[in-house]
Amino acid sequence: MIKIFDTTLRDGEQSPGCSMNLYEKLQMARQLERLGVDIIEAGFPAASQGDFESVQAIARSLKKTVICGLARCTKNDIDAVYDAIKDANFKRIHVFIATSDIHLKYKLKKTRKEVLADIAEYVSYAKSLVDDIEFSCEDASRTDLDFLCEAVDIAIQNGATTINLPDTVGYAVPEEYANMIKTVIDNVPNADKVDISVHCHNDLGLAVANSLAAVGVGATQVECTINGIGERAGNAACEEIVMALKTRHDYYGKDTAIKTTEIMRTSNLLQQITATRVSPTKPIVGKNVFAHESGIHQHGVLQDKSTYEIMDPAMIGLVETENLVLGKHSGKHALRAKLEELGYEVDDAQMEEVFVDFKNIADSKKQIYDRDIHALMLREYQKVSGGYELVDYSSFTSNGKESKTIIKLSDGKETIERVGSGAGPVDAAFDCMANIVGDKFQLEDFAIHSVTRGKDALGETFLSLRSNGQVFNGKGLSNDIIKSSIIAYVNAVNQQAQLQD
Ligand SMILES: [Zn+2]
Repeated sequence: MIKIFDTTLRDGEQSPGCSMNLYEKLQMARQLERLGVDIIEAGFPAASQGDFESVQAIARSLKKTVICGLARCTKNDIDAVYDAIKDANFKRIHVFIATSDIHLKYKLKKTRKEVLADIAEYVSYAKSLVDDIEFSCEDASRTDLDFLCEAVDIAIQNGATTINLPDTVGYAVPEEYANMIKTVIDNVPNADKVDISVHCHNDLGLAVANSLAAVGVGATQVECTINGIGERAGNAACEEIVMALKTRHDYYGKDTAIKTTEIMRTSNLLQQITATRVSPTKPIVGKNVFAHESGIHQHGVLQDKSTYEIMDPAMIGLVETENLVLGKHSGKHALRAKLEELGYEVDDAQMEEVFVDFKNIADSKKQIYDRDIHALMLREYQKVSGGYELVDYSSFTSNGKESKTIIKLSDGKETIERVGSGAGPVDAAFDCMANIVGDKFQLEDFAIHSVTRGKDALGETFLSLRSNGQVFNGKGLSNDIIKSSIIAYVNAVNQQAQLQD
């Protein structure tokens, strides 16, 4: 069995444009549990209060998965992880220190001897709190092999149960990386009694290849992220590792506990949360991956799928027609049942609110698909109580003339009405918003996607506003894109206001 260690919420989340709020992390964690990952690295609790709270919420909410938090070799970091994960059914502390000479010299300013002493001290300290301890030699792939073996030996002696040997900077190539893993397994006493883990970055496009090469020589855990998100070129993509092992079971002979039919749903959820679409040719989950355009291929596939298709799309949960789920006559029971099926937990008060929004959408849209429900739920928890609320708006636009938008907002006490102008109705709406909230916000990013197909599809707007060096994300959802743009703007402004309270 190969253990899948998912670090979407830690290594993935810390990359630009991928930050998630607590609610989004919880939804993602629940979906990762349904996907069947063995370990979730939920965050870096010492990094910020927000990170600590998310790790804690995930540790308290999940039942089956090992919940892990990351710590540097300091008592403060390790204590923060322990406090955040202590309520989890299964918990792991992940301690790391760099072992390459470059990192020792320029970053840690420590000698090799001092690093070995740190490993002994902090691995055994972590072990005094929790039994399941992972130790990582940061920048392992650029570490002197003899010293790497010494470091691993000391970590195992002090109680590490998983040893991770990352290619932190994405520098390794497959044969070389596999050789490093094999050297450690063959030379360190008791290395066969612990899990040997790999963690690869994709700077040279080799993250998945390096991970698989390591599995080929005996690595038993792979660290990865959904859609391969992560810093710089990203991490090894979970779905690619899993489907490579499954499709080439004849070669590797290794299984994972992943329920592959949940892959597509997990990928979509992350794309929706981070407002990023994967490339159409992204292996496994890209939208062109199972489309056969060329005539020769189409002919072959029609005769027998196996001619050109190495994977069955149903295996990753890609269903031909989108599930038609609910409509305007669906009641609260049907909606609740659907939410449960999709994995959302809502209390009665939330249910009342969600139902009102659901009815609003159902009034303007005939068919409501699973993805509409996901969009609705993800937006639901971005609402900030207090702050501005959209009361009404109207927009005037015609070819070749300046557009005008009038917006009415309530700030809880009074209604404010202003007019804005611009090159198009959305531009005019943002000009109007600036007239209401002041010009301290700069629009940094703006995107509209349609959630499903069809001319009445919901438009999902994502935008980022920058104010005083900080970035605030807002989402809006409506089948009117001007409205969803205004709501997204209002949500981002409210986020900022909440932070200042
Ligand atoms: Zn990493």
